[in-house]
Amino acid sequence: MTVELISVGTEILLGNIVNTNAAYLAEKIALLGLSCYHQSAVGDNEERLEDAIRLALSRSDIVILSGGLGPTKDDLTKEVTAKVFGRELYEDAHSKERIQAYFDRRRAQGREITANNWKQALVPEGAIVVDNYNGTAPGIILEDKENGKTAILLPGPPNEIRPMFERDIAPYLNKLQPEGIYSKMVKICSIGESQAETMVADLMDAQSNPTLAPYAKTGEVHFRVTAKAADEETACRLMEPMLQELKKRFGDYIYTMDEEVTLEEAVVDMLRERQMTVTTAESCTGGLLAGRIMNVPGASSVYREGYITYSNEAKEKLLGVEHQTLETVGAVSPETAEQMARGAARQAGADAALAVTGIAGPDGGTPEKPVGLVYIGCCVQGRIRVEEFHFTGNRSKNRDYAVVRALTLLRE
Ligand code: ATP
Ligand code: MG
Repeated sequence: MTVELISVGTEILLGNIVNTNAAYLAEKIALLGLSCYHQSAVGDNEERLEDAIRLALSRSDIVILSGGLGPTKDDLTKEVTAKVFGRELYEDAHSKERIQAYFDRRRAQGREITANNWKQALVPEGAIVVDNYNGTAPGIILEDKENGKTAILLPGPPNEIRPMFERDIAPYLNKLQPEGIYSKMVKICSIGESQAETMVADLMDAQSNPTLAPYAKTGEVHFRVTAKAADEETACRLMEPMLQELKKRFGDYIYTMDEEVTLEEAVVDMLRERQMTVTTAESCTGGLLAGRIMNVPGASSVYREGYITYSNEAKEKLLGVEHQTLETVGAVSPETAEQMARGAARQAGADAALAVTGIAGPDGGTPEKPVGLVYIGCCVQGRIRVEEFHFTGNRSKNRDYAVVRALTLLRE
């Protein structure tokens, strides 16, 4: 079964909006085990849209169109698709009711229904209408059973298309396949992408069902194990040996086997379990590390206060870093990282402290201390460990990498 995507909208062609719908849909389609060989974008133009739809239907089984379902004149997707399928449009009573109800709910905010809104209740004959819980334009599935072709029309706004896809379109696509696709995620930190891939090269070469695919994230590597099977239980049985093998090879580098869990969540969970508090002392990351920890709901149970000490004076004043150290070996040094971590733990009365000092760039590097050099101090119940890193990204990447490595150090 092949799926093709058409993103509709002149704004996309002009680069005014980034085509995140295509990226979203492509990823979801791959996860469903469907093949997508073509994607295109086309403006709000009747002729060119018709051409794009005909071409897509000539080479793919299913065409998913996003955008152009709105109430305005330039929204043509439904009209043009209906024409290609040779179907008339009729007013769907159910959609009309939903549009009325949508505006009733919003009347208090001053949103009144306008005549062109009823255009969104028009659907092609024989279509499956998909309710929109976040907007007015329903989604539409149009099947041409004779020729085995299907068009799926979805609204453009990401906050409408995503929930609609999750709720109704993914199950619809899944039903078209004799076997379902099931997957598990194994998330790894502290190892680089190429090293991680080398460690599983044989598994990747030998793969068929399940398959193993790596995804590099900043400072992390995620492996997705995917199995095709008639039901979930069979899929789990197929995936188990591969998951065990990954556990054996990566051991403690695995921070979670749960798709939804982030590195910061895993770290906060770990601290909570150990009933430990943590603080941060940040120079080049300027609060990013604390911010990452605070991404986790309920982080207050492990984090109370932290320090952004960008200048030398702040490092002395807030953390008690010795003037002498800053003068002799400098702010970017293992000694300073150590004193920052110890000072933060002391000041905050925390069980653990992470300290980051480095040269994020683009300026400030020297031959001895190049851009990307970062020292991270990790102090846990008085035991200190300082690691030296050489990151090779730009300023923003280097700071992101430093945050991930700091979180990672706490786990080790
Ligand atoms: P509306 O009812 O808002 O007119 P629509 O289904 O007609 O919705 P469009 O008019 O094509 O969709 O786009 C509406 C908005 O949705 C765009 O301004 C843009 O913000 C967002 N959008 C549309 N297409 C995409 C896309 N491919 N990727 C990301 N965002 C998009
Ligand atoms: Mg529109």
